[in-house]
Amino acid sequence: MEVTATKGQIIKGKPVADQISENLIKEVDELVKEGINPKLAIVRVGSRGDDLAYERGALKRCQTIGIETEVVELAEDITQEDYEKTLRSLNENKDVHGILCLRPLPNQLNEEAIKYVISPEKDVDCFSPINSAKIMEGDKSGFPPCTPTAVVEILKHYDVELNGANVAVLGRSMVVGKPASMLLLNENATVTICHSRTKNLEKVTSQADILVAAVGRAKMIKENFVKEGAVVIDVGINVDENGNLCGDVDTASVQDKVSMITPVPAGVGSVTTSILAKHVVKACKNQNNK
Ligand code: NAP
Repeated sequence: MEVTATKGQIIKGKPVADQISENLIKEVDELVKEGINPKLAIVRVGSRGDDLAYERGALKRCQTIGIETEVVELAEDITQEDYEKTLRSLNENKDVHGILCLRPLPNQLNEEAIKYVISPEKDVDCFSPINSAKIMEGDKSGFPPCTPTAVVEILKHYDVELNGANVAVLGRSMVVGKPASMLLLNENATVTICHSRTKNLEKVTSQADILVAAVGRAKMIKENFVKEGAVVIDVGINVDENGNLCGDVDTASVQDKVSMITPVPAGVGSVTTSILAKHVVKACKNQNNK
């Protein structure tokens, strides 16, 4: 596949997020007219900076779209029993359509058990193994995680051909790498999943038409990791040696070689909350037989 575009185009997340939000505002408007108010509950344990930052973004996005929100703030030392009780009560609450459990959870909580408690129908960020399995099956009725879904939405928004494209996904976490790989496979891309044991990493990634970097290593991807004209999606959120936010890709090093690249910040991260909102509206419609 040949990807043709202007060289080094920075493709921002905002236009993608705005378009998704615009469509959702209309959908929510229709639901509200019928007396249905989509609602997201965010479950947060303690007050980690990352959780609070994501929560703020999610609340703002939902507010813009007209989705109701509720933050359930739990004590840092909450027990497994009490966490599960909270989750079960949200599962049963008919006014709540989507549940987001902010993770990672503190050590005393067993995530492996909790992921089976959240109702798959309300699990808008793919915590439940049922939703993970649906990605594997290509079953679109589920909720894939928001970040990898944002990766696919960005590629589609900027008209990047996925059908038959050679894609290298760098990273194999359950949060980003693995689901991103499956979602891209479901779009008929030929996907190579790379990780810390991959041999000749540069050789593999530099053959890809599309490179998705989700390693969590500041500016690791240099010019020799990318193919001429490739599209690069930088999922990484890291802090560089000067204390500034940066991605996994060294943008200055690759920009002249690639056709398009997402920035960090203002790239993938800015689309994630609009996907979350989209999932809440979808969950709400499903639960109201719409
Ligand atoms: P993670 O769980 O730490 O996974 C990192 C993956 O990268 C692992 O699969 C690991 O391989 C691989 N890896 C690490 N070092 C490598 C190396 N030197 N060479 C090749 N592969 C290497 O991280 P994550 O949760 O997937 O997140 C990845 C990045 O995305 C982070 O920077 C995170 O902050 C960011 N993120 C962004 C968003 C967003 O909204 N933009 C959302 C979530 C995460 P092994 O499996 O072999 O260890």
